[in-house]
Amino acid sequence: MILVTHALVGAVIGKNINNPLIIIPLSLVTHYALDSQRHGEYLDKTSKFGNTWWKIALDISAGFLFILSFITIKDFDLLRIRNILIGSFSSLFPDFLTLLFWIYPAGFLKKLHSFHEWVHRYFFSEELKWSLKNALNDILVSLLAIIFLFL
Ligand SMILES: [Zn+2]
Repeated sequence: MILVTHALVGAVIGKNINNPLIIIPLSLVTHYALDSQRHGEYLDKTSKFGNTWWKIALDISAGFLFILSFITIKDFDLLRIRNILIGSFSSLFPDFLTLLFWIYPAGFLKKLHSFHEWVHRYFFSEELKWSLKNALNDILVSLLAIIFLFL
């Protein structure tokens, strides 16, 4: 799924759980669980950092704009803000590792990347084409996350 979705879901986890030792693994597991659902990807086999960085920057900026707006509106204490940010960063971490894999495609990163691809099942096939139909789960999960952030 896109980074906005992962960041928002991680924020919901961090908002509702006080212990980082639970937030971090739960956010990581949730990342892979969400990636196993049907979704569109703006990356394909031709994607390299040089032709993709602006999409990634836009995606992650939108996620943190939502989260920072939410934190500002809700006026949380520092502990809650910390947990929200830990949840968001942990939720994004598997995709950060994919970025590192592009730079250094070997060793432990290669194994993690293979697992990440396996989770996607349809990775880089027609099933993950960037389309509204394939983006419906991203939209639905993001809207639910925004609702849970404001509750
Ligand atoms: Zn992912």
